[in-house]
Amino acid sequence: MPDKKRIIIIGAGVAGMSAGCYGQMNGYDTEIYEMNNIPGGLCTGWKRLDYIIDGCFEWMIGISPDSVFNKQWLEVGALQNKEIMVHKEFCRCEFSDGKKIIIYADADKLESHLINIAPEDAGSITEITTAIKKLAGAFGGTMTRKPQSGLTGLIRTGIRFFPLIRYFRKYGKISIREYARKNIKNTDLREAFNHIFLADYSMAILLFNLACYANKDAGLPMGGSLGVVNSMATRYENLGGRINYKSIVNRIESKKERATGIKLEDGRIISGDIVISAVDGHHTLFDLLKGKYLTKKISKCYSGDYPTFTTVQVSLGVNADLSDEAQWIHMKLDKPVVLAGQELSFISFNNYCHDKTMAPEGKSVIASHIFTKFEYWEKFDRKSHEYSEEKRKLAEEVIKSAEKRFPSIKGKIEVIDVATPLTYQRYTNVWRGAYMTWIITPGSKILSKIPNKLPGLRNFYMIGQWVSSPGTPGALKTGRKVIQDICKMDEKQFQTSIP
Ligand SMILES: Cc1cc2nc3c(=O)[nH]c(=O)nc-3n(C[C@H](O)[C@H](O)[C@H](O)COP(=O)(O)OP(=O)(O)OC[C@H]3O[C@@H](n4cnc5c(N)ncnc54)[C@H](O)[C@@H]3O)c2cc1C
Repeated sequence: MPDKKRIIIIGAGVAGMSAGCYGQMNGYDTEIYEMNNIPGGLCTGWKRLDYIIDGCFEWMIGISPDSVFNKQWLEVGALQNKEIMVHKEFCRCEFSDGKKIIIYADADKLESHLINIAPEDAGSITEITTAIKKLAGAFGGTMTRKPQSGLTGLIRTGIRFFPLIRYFRKYGKISIREYARKNIKNTDLREAFNHIFLADYSMAILLFNLACYANKDAGLPMGGSLGVVNSMATRYENLGGRINYKSIVNRIESKKERATGIKLEDGRIISGDIVISAVDGHHTLFDLLKGKYLTKKISKCYSGDYPTFTTVQVSLGVNADLSDEAQWIHMKLDKPVVLAGQELSFISFNNYCHDKTMAPEGKSVIASHIFTKFEYWEKFDRKSHEYSEEKRKLAEEVIKSAEKRFPSIKGKIEVIDVATPLTYQRYTNVWRGAYMTWIITPGSKILSKIPNKLPGLRNFYMIGQWVSSPGTPGALKTGRKVIQDICKMDEKQFQTSIP
């Protein structure tokens, strides 16, 4: 019996742990090297006094038992024994005159609610909700339903996916902002569209997410992001895998155009038959591989031609019960404020009260995400007074708005936590703090630009959201796919199991 092939994985984020789990399921000897002392990477949370600040999931896709992502989350042990809250609404926008625009998950309810608010836009509203319903129908629990085999299967799959192509073509060509400008007359509704999602994204991406909501495939597991990644790490270790924490990789070793292992910061060389990098794409290509394997396409992706975005997360732990409040609120400000170098007319609050593990009984965590440009932050030295001052000012403004929206928290704020793009960068090496990679703008073909293999370097693969789609499902999927590819190369049947 030949020795098991040894696979070295860099990074214990969702992608790295996914590859580790599937590698173990398929009889490979895998080991993960992670620079932090906990798993998860960008999918994480942290404790402040009695409170857990969730640093990732606002919605998790793949919670419906009908979806293949659900099966994959179960295979990597992420969702077992977890109570799940299925989102009934995507978010709501609140205006100073008391008007509320609620983006319901149910497309029919959404349609009648929006037409009630903006009858003059009935045509466009029906067009949008019809698209959501069509996409939801095609996805049948996200686009991930298993493709059928054989000719009949192929035809059936084709028929099912036809509306998808049509709708992606149509709505992939226009940004949310542009769609709203051209098609929505009602001022409040137009403003709402510009704030419920990053408005530079293509309209197709918003509709895709709303279709997942309509399919009850978007929600949140109790225990939050930290709970999900801790369960994945346990699953990986139960399968016999090892995560080496506090192990910073600073080079991918190669010989005769073949990856041979990794070099750690402490000087140790770890050899393997295959190396999989599950860390940030830019860090992999420019730091760990020293820019040796760049193609024209890759260089273009990192040239700055394609926009990215990042955020500041201001979280508050409050000694007040906000469990009657909605889960995601965008509040219009009485007058715009300048925050993190840009003018804001809305401020958002995520309310984590649905999850009793986030705060003690009667207490709550709320968090505000403020989209910002990395250029604004890169000038700061993280240890400087100016940086602390910038964070303090941001927190002050968020608190002012939070106290206005939730008067019961006045004088009851026990924790203030500010994570900036520099935090994300320091914690995971993510390029430009871009925790969701490139913005998928109209016509953007970025998703097909970064390959998971590099010309001139055999036995090496890149996985994670930078070679797939932004968000955890993309990361999860690439970890599975890479092991499928390795099994195929080794002429082995790909195996999975659900614990
Ligand atoms: C505020 C916020 C909100 C988000 N909301 C959502 C959401 O609602 N839904 C959703 O699906 N996704 C969301 N995301 C995105 C999601 O977190 C990411 O898409 C996903 O976690 C990326 O996983 P990954 O494995 O590809 O990469 P990463 O998480 O970046 O994993 C890379 C790992 O490699 C490690 N590493 C880096 N360099 C080295 C090195 N040199 N040596 C050793 N280890 C190294 C890092 O520490 C990290 O653990 C959000 C993220 C943030 C920050």
